[in-house]
Amino acid sequence: MPQASKNKTASSRDIGMDLGTANTLVYARGHGIVLNEPSVVAVRAGTTTALAVGTEAKETIGRTPGSITAIRPLKGGVICDYEAAEEMIRHFVRKAVPGRRTRTRMVICVPSGVTPVERRAIVQASTRAGARSVHLIEEPMAAAIGAGLPVEEARGSMVVDIGGGTSEVAVISLGGIVTSQSLRVGGDRLDAAITDHVRKEYSLLIGERTAEDVKVAVGSAWPVPGRPELESATFTVRGRERVGGMPQSLVLTAADVRAALDEPVEAIIAAVRTTLEECPPELSGDVMEHGIVLTGGGALLPGLDLRIASATGIPVFVADAPLDCVALGSGKCVEDLDTLGRLLAPAKA
Ligand code: ADP
Ligand code: MG
Repeated sequence: MPQASKNKTASSRDIGMDLGTANTLVYARGHGIVLNEPSVVAVRAGTTTALAVGTEAKETIGRTPGSITAIRPLKGGVICDYEAAEEMIRHFVRKAVPGRRTRTRMVICVPSGVTPVERRAIVQASTRAGARSVHLIEEPMAAAIGAGLPVEEARGSMVVDIGGGTSEVAVISLGGIVTSQSLRVGGDRLDAAITDHVRKEYSLLIGERTAEDVKVAVGSAWPVPGRPELESATFTVRGRERVGGMPQSLVLTAADVRAALDEPVEAIIAAVRTTLEECPPELSGDVMEHGIVLTGGGALLPGLDLRIASATGIPVFVADAPLDCVALGSGKCVEDLDTLGRLLAPAKA
């Protein structure tokens, strides 16, 4: 990082952005993570004008009459609303880099499932927001760098990044992704599984946000030694009866929630297995020896590491600050743009 300290003013103009389906983080050269907000844009219904972006937009949800809609521009790991995505990128870049941005260089991490058209849209939005140059980096690569894996060594490292809309499983060696899987199963699907379970088993309709609260409060994927409370916890949800529509509350147990999460959790495990099968034997040997690293918000689900370890027979570790790994990885590229830049092809708008 010697370059960063040499020239503070100029360095702070280079940024890394983790454009996640749930959260967007911005890393500014020489400063670290300077922005962390939900990837949400609030617009007046029927228009495309953004009223609020990020935290402010998320706070408006449910607090205003029906005339304001909250949009998640990257739902499901792909851009589902270009205009909102562009507005969001512009807003976050301006917030993170106040003043003139004519010399800003950007490294943006995008879900690896995005199409060339979507990549171009992201580059265009960033260029319009004032960036001088834009580099795109594959999310699993950024996650692995941010988790401190030795990505440039001739050694297979496996990272599983579980975000809101997607999970990315990848084996990396010599600075490149050797094999990877991107599946549209992430935190949102876990929430949906809880909503479905409550509807089917108890005929009660609950909202997305409630389901996420349940997951974070009492969700788990496997028993965790030393945490017996994970087995006995309960959570009271409020919803609407499926028949009749009356408000009703219900006590959910941790066992209920674990059963609900079973299917999406198994889908993530299946992707890990497939990636291992597709991996050259020397590299899967490295993974068996050194283990699998989990990043992204989904890595915080208690017992997920133990469950994957039990299913694969490979040790699994949760990265430090899993929610920050991708942003920190992009940040590392930004701190060292001149050397690490060769890992990233400059993107053309
Ligand atoms: P993205 O990269 O797609 O923006 P993140 O890596 O920021 O996603 O992770 C967001 C997801 O992590 C959300 O679905 C959220 O519900 C989930 N999450 C956050 N904290 C926890 C937790 N403690 N337990 C389980 N899931 C969590
Ligand atoms: Mg992410």
